[in-house]
Amino acid sequence: MDNTKIPKPTIKRLAVYHRCLENMVISGVASVSSNDLAERLGIKASQVRKDLSYFGEFGKRGVGYSTKHLLDSISEILGIRKKWKTCIVGMGNLGMALANYPGLENSGFISKALFDNNPNKIGIPMPNDLVIESTEVLEEIVKKRQIEIGVITVPANAAQIIADLLADAGVKGIVNFAPIRLTLPPGISNEEIDISVSFRSLAFNMTFGSSRKGRRA
Ligand code: NAD
Repeated sequence: MDNTKIPKPTIKRLAVYHRCLENMVISGVASVSSNDLAERLGIKASQVRKDLSYFGEFGKRGVGYSTKHLLDSISEILGIRKKWKTCIVGMGNLGMALANYPGLENSGFISKALFDNNPNKIGIPMPNDLVIESTEVLEEIVKKRQIEIGVITVPANAAQIIADLLADAGVKGIVNFAPIRLTLPPGISNEEIDISVSFRSLAFNMTFGSSRKGRRA
């Protein structure tokens, strides 16, 4: 498909459709019509139909599109079809939850290895034909499976050691859930995630909102 023929405003809307379709795939919605998309996004159905007409004839009239197929096509146009190979280090509560969450794979982040240093956890079978492996072999496995992103879900006191191990093994990005600021060599992207930030932000908005209501009353 020749991307250059698609007008810029359509490309922008495709990014919005992409986000919506991703959520639909995660929620298990198998097919979608232009009316569904229009309704969910508050856009005219005729506009959605026109935008999707750039993809040719794979939607059946009255039936709609395969959600996954449409998502893949839009991903290709937007250049976000790349699959990233990831590993998770620290298979406790959070590591297990992430490894069992299909949303990451659906977004293009594919777990290729899961590590822990607890001998009782090594060998436990996990989704996608993986087993938990020892951090002793992390460097070798990360290199062999060409893993690009490391996800850190170990306690704070082990996070820097794991970050160093991942960096030495050659990952290019780290997602750190441990509550500690990591020191990383240049060239490695780092994303710190703290779920409590969203809670604090919500609490702030609720406080701000209620105080405004209070003032009005
Ligand atoms: P957990 O104790 O259930 O799991 C930690 C796992 O790491 C265990 O399986 C343990 O064996 C393993 N581990 C410990 N040291 C290790 C090492 N050196 N190498 C490899 N594996 C090692 O903890 P959890 O509840 O899953 O939390 C994990 C981390 O995520 C903690 O740092 C916690 O503070 C953080 N956390 C962050 C958020 C957030 O929003 N960022 C939310 C929850 C938890």
